[in-house]
Amino acid sequence: MDKFVGYRCSLCAKEYLPAQVTYTCSCGGNLDVVLDYDALKKKYQPDDLLCRDETNLWRYLPLIPVSFPKIAERTPLSLAGGTPVIFLPRLAKKLGLEQLWLKDESRNPTASFKDRASAVVVARAIETGAEVVVTASTGNAGAALAGMAAAVGQKAVIFAPKTAPPAKVAQLLVFGAKVLLVDGTYDDAFDLTVKAAEEFGWYCRNTGYNPFTVEGKKTAAFEIWEFMRRELGMGGRKPTGGLVAPVNKPRLTIFVSVGDGNIIAGIHKGFKDLQALGWLDHMPCIIGVQAEGSAAIANAFKAGNETITPVSATTLADSISVDLPRDGVRAVRAARETGGTYITVSDAEILSAIAELGSQGVFAEPAGAAAYAGLAAAQAQGLLDPGAPILVVNTGSGLKDVRAAMQSVQAAPIIQPDLESIKKHL
Ligand SMILES: *Cc1c(COP(=O)(O)O)cnc(C)c1O
Ligand SMILES: [Zn+2]
Repeated sequence: MDKFVGYRCSLCAKEYLPAQVTYTCSCGGNLDVVLDYDALKKKYQPDDLLCRDETNLWRYLPLIPVSFPKIAERTPLSLAGGTPVIFLPRLAKKLGLEQLWLKDESRNPTASFKDRASAVVVARAIETGAEVVVTASTGNAGAALAGMAAAVGQKAVIFAPKTAPPAKVAQLLVFGAKVLLVDGTYDDAFDLTVKAAEEFGWYCRNTGYNPFTVEGKKTAAFEIWEFMRRELGMGGRKPTGGLVAPVNKPRLTIFVSVGDGNIIAGIHKGFKDLQALGWLDHMPCIIGVQAEGSAAIANAFKAGNETITPVSATTLADSISVDLPRDGVRAVRAARETGGTYITVSDAEILSAIAELGSQGVFAEPAGAAAYAGLAAAQAQGLLDPGAPILVVNTGSGLKDVRAAMQSVQAAPIIQPDLESIKKHL
């Protein structure tokens, strides 16, 4: 069965066959991958996925439009996704919430959510015989592409702004990618990458450009769906046809940080796929969190339209620092179509969120902690349904940006090696 039937433009609805296009629509719009939902529905029941042995994103292979490359078996590429959901009872209490969960994407092979997209894009590159993969990145997308490519011996070229945090640049280099640091912003790197890919015939992973990134990122929604069924007793029908959850139960509310808007669009796509299969009864509410200084998508959402006006981005959360978000339209819709909203947070709120999560044993980079900062702000503004279970997505590891982490805490004192000095500091 060929489950991948083509693409549909998210702006003009024009349809393409798989071989007709590689990146975007002739109108410039991002393409949604279209699966053969009727055939999938006939062939599979939820249990056919839920009983698979894989504990990573390849568990959902029947719903991903690539084949798993044999060469990737038992490599880091085979281990992307499958991240844990942890319970945060003390923070829940502090915020006055009944249930608070955190999906920890820092546990991916290269320590960010981006591995989901890069694993699937590298699989696609292998399928299409691409010799070189390339991406623009603020750091994580590049680290993920470089890592997944290294796992299977694929050549990777990465363009990152020269201001990218050193740990991310170190990952790129250690994974053996050709790294070019651009004297400019992420947006400059993005445009340069598109030109270079055309010129040299490289396969371009750029976020909000390559349709397969969403197909990788949507697997987080599949995992959340499994979590909803298992832990929250909601999310789908029992095989007998009866509802698993009482219909009046408050919906799961998901907080996720937003830069280009591709992660939030991917999570939304995953839930829409499940809905199209008839496997999801309770669409979660998706809330996007942007940094105040990089809020082009939140601005469009608040204006009630889909017109993305570029900003001049300034935030310490480098992973969500974007002038012109490349997936803004689908990102606005992810919140609007699920009854969610957009929240903006200051850098000070992000830093204090790093410390709050740290106090629970979770080490998040600024963009990851931003989602928790958004939750705290939403609760303070009285936006949340009391009793609704909340899930915050930590998109990246604190080890990615140690300088920002140090700004969130008091520096440690340096002491003389004697007991007197200890007493002074206790
Ligand atoms: C890329 C990234 C984001 C934002 O994802 P977008 O698709 O750009 O919205 C958030 N957090 C981290 C850690 C990231 O790497
Ligand atoms: Zn179009």
